[in-house]
Amino acid sequence: MSLLEVSGLEVRYGAADAVRGLSLHVDEGEVVTIIGSNGAGKTTTLRAVTSMLLPNMHVGGSVRFDGHELVGMSAHRVARLGLIHVPEGRHVFPSATVEENLLLGAYRLKRRQSADARAAAVARVYEQFPVLHERSGQFAGFLSGGEQQQLAIGRALMAEPKLLVMDEPSLGLAPRLVAEMFATIQRLAEAGTTILLVEQMARQALRVADRAYALSSGRLVREGVAGELMDDKEVKKAYLGA
Ligand code: ATP
Repeated sequence: MSLLEVSGLEVRYGAADAVRGLSLHVDEGEVVTIIGSNGAGKTTTLRAVTSMLLPNMHVGGSVRFDGHELVGMSAHRVARLGLIHVPEGRHVFPSATVEENLLLGAYRLKRRQSADARAAAVARVYEQFPVLHERSGQFAGFLSGGEQQQLAIGRALMAEPKLLVMDEPSLGLAPRLVAEMFATIQRLAEAGTTILLVEQMARQALRVADRAYALSSGRLVREGVAGELMDDKEVKKAYLGA
């Protein structure tokens, strides 16, 4: 059975349909991407999957994760199960230090593990992101956009995710930093992290992903092995600018 299994997902904002009958799955160790243009329903899908709902959102269908049904579950409980969301726009705490931001991500560890375990988790993040180590005592608000994105990912890793959900990590980054961001995702994937990635940068997303789903107006229009979708005529035309 897949780690994440979404079936017949329907999401409405008030009376407006945003996602219609979407089914997808993510297996352990996979990187899966959802591509689609503006307004296709990518962020809405991630919000529904992680229960980060807005007040006017209505969710139907089923989201099963690691043996649990998530529809109707609080975002807090979903996170405790190990489904960790790096939201669009990063949302680091600007007036806390880099290290304090990381420790805030360790809530899944707090109850059962010691300060030593948390320190070890911080050290692992610093190994992955040396710039965060260099800036550990600085306020997060002083970091560049690319560094804040690394911090947001590092904070998510502190929760030891079973599934890391990333919403447009490349958003607002300069081209060089976009390339670095995708290299980071590649490294996380090689280290065995299971990732569900939403991106408008479809070409780069398909390069790092094992499988992909293409959404248009809230509906699934294509799914398959990422490399094959990259060569698909319709996908090229609609999402790859070719
Ligand atoms: P983008 O890349 O622009 O974020 P997306 O694929 O993530 O696009 P969503 O943000 O999920 O798309 O939006 C899907 C649909 O839901 C769109 O028609 C959008 O206008 C609508 N929508 C999104 N957020 C809300 C909201 N808070 N209230 C009402 N409608 C919304």
